[in-house]
Amino acid sequence: MCDYPECFESNIRKAKKVHKCCECKKDIIPGEKYEDFHGIWNGEANNYRSCIKCRNLRWGIQYIEDCDEMAFGQLYEYLESITSSYKKKVTDYWVAHYLYSAMDNN
Ligand SMILES: [Zn+2]
Repeated sequence: MCDYPECFESNIRKAKKVHKCCECKKDIIPGEKYEDFHGIWNGEANNYRSCIKCRNLRWGIQYIEDCDEMAFGQLYEYLESITSSYKKKVTDYWVAHYLYSAMDNN
């Protein structure tokens, strides 16, 4: 599940145009914040954009799993495969993290 890039840069940006979240496939609309992630995997550069909800969820899983970088685009597939008690742990972490970032926005 972990997919470590050789190097990466992650920024939180405010969308100037519509982007698609690489995890939930929903539109990131202009004015909405998103994570812009550039990385190099096996010598190949890639760019992934995630809405804040998916980004926080991914960070929560990485934190619990002690994994620095899970593969992009597999978040929901991964969530399907985990047990409900584990899911609760991830959700609790995510809710805390989400509340924190919501406070940060105000
Ligand atoms: Zn998303």
